[in-house]
Amino acid sequence: MKRLAVYVLTTCAVIWVLQERRVSTQINTVKELAPGVYFHEGDLRGKGHCNNGWVIFDDFVLVLDANFPSGAREIIPKIQAQTKKPIRFAFDTHHHGDHAYANQIWADAGAVPVAHENVVSEMKKYDTGLFGGKPGRWENEAKQREDLRTTKLKAPTLLYRDVMIFDDGKHRVELRYFGVGHTQGDGFAWLPNERILFTGDAAVNGPYNYMGDGDSAAWIDTLTKAQALGATTVAPGHGPSGAGNVLEAQKQYFIALRGEVTKRKDLAPDRVQADVPAIRTALLDRHATYIDASPTAIVGFESQVAQVYREMTGKEFPKKGGLDAARRAHELHHGIANNP
Ligand SMILES: [Zn+2]
Repeated sequence: MKRLAVYVLTTCAVIWVLQERRVSTQINTVKELAPGVYFHEGDLRGKGHCNNGWVIFDDFVLVLDANFPSGAREIIPKIQAQTKKPIRFAFDTHHHGDHAYANQIWADAGAVPVAHENVVSEMKKYDTGLFGGKPGRWENEAKQREDLRTTKLKAPTLLYRDVMIFDDGKHRVELRYFGVGHTQGDGFAWLPNERILFTGDAAVNGPYNYMGDGDSAAWIDTLTKAQALGATTVAPGHGPSGAGNVLEAQKQYFIALRGEVTKRKDLAPDRVQADVPAIRTALLDRHATYIDASPTAIVGFESQVAQVYREMTGKEFPKKGGLDAARRAHELHHGIANNP
C-alpha cells in the first residue's frame, strides 16, 4: 500500500512537472495559430503581462491587446522580425493596465489604439488622473511599475459600438461586443475565416479570473453570446491558447461558483466567509483550471466568492484574510491596486 502511494505520488509529481513545463514553454514564445495570425502568451507571474495576438494584413499589422509597456516592448521586435509592414492598430480588449497601459508605446510605434467605447468610460471612472481628476489607478500603479514611469497613459482614440471590421480579402477581423463581463467594455476579436476568437480577460485559461470590475451573471450571458460564434480556437487573455471549449469551461466555472454562493446567500457574511474553503473543495474537482490552491495564488479565490456574494446581497465579508493579500497581488498585476 505504501509503495503504491509512493508510486502514485511520484507519478503525479512527474505529470505535474511535465504539465508545468508544457505550459511554461509557451510563455514568451510566438505561436502561429493560422497563416498570418499569431499568439504570444505573456509572462503573467513574472511581469504581469497579458497575452497578445497579431494579424498581418496586406498593408499593416493589427495587434490584439496593448499589454503593459514592458510587454509591448517585448513583442514589438518579435513582430518586426516577421514583417516590415507597419503596425497600424493596437486593440485594447479592456481598460485594465495589463491590456491597455502600453497604448502610448504603440502610438510611438505608429499605431492607433482601438477599443470598444466603454473602455474609455471605464478609464474615466478609474484612471481619473488622465481626465483632470485625482490620481487614479495609473498613478498608483506607476509607484510599483518602472515601465509606466517611462511613458504616459493614452486612452484609445478609434472607438466602436457594435462592430469594427478589418478585411483585406484574405484576413478578416471583427471587433465585437457582447455586453458586460470581466468589465463594462470587454471587446472580442473574431476571425471568422480561421474560427479564432481572441477574448481578452472575458475568458482566461488558468486561475486568473479577476471579478472586481464586472458582473458574474452578465458575464455568463456574454460568454454564451461569444460561444454562438463557433470558435474552434480560443486565444484567452491569460494562460495558453486552447480549443473552443475554453469558453464553456470558463462559463461552467462561473455557473458553479454562483451556484455555491446562491446556496449560502441568506447566510450572514461571516458564515459565508468561513465557508470559503468548503466552496473551494466543492469546485476543485470539476473546475481545477480556474482555482489556484497555492498560497502564492495570483487570484484570491476568496475575493471571487466575496464578489459574487456582494453582487447577490450587497454585503461585504468582514475579515481581511490571507487570500485578500493574494487578491491585492493580482490587482497589482492588473494595474488596479489600491482601487481609488
Ligand atoms: Zn483584466
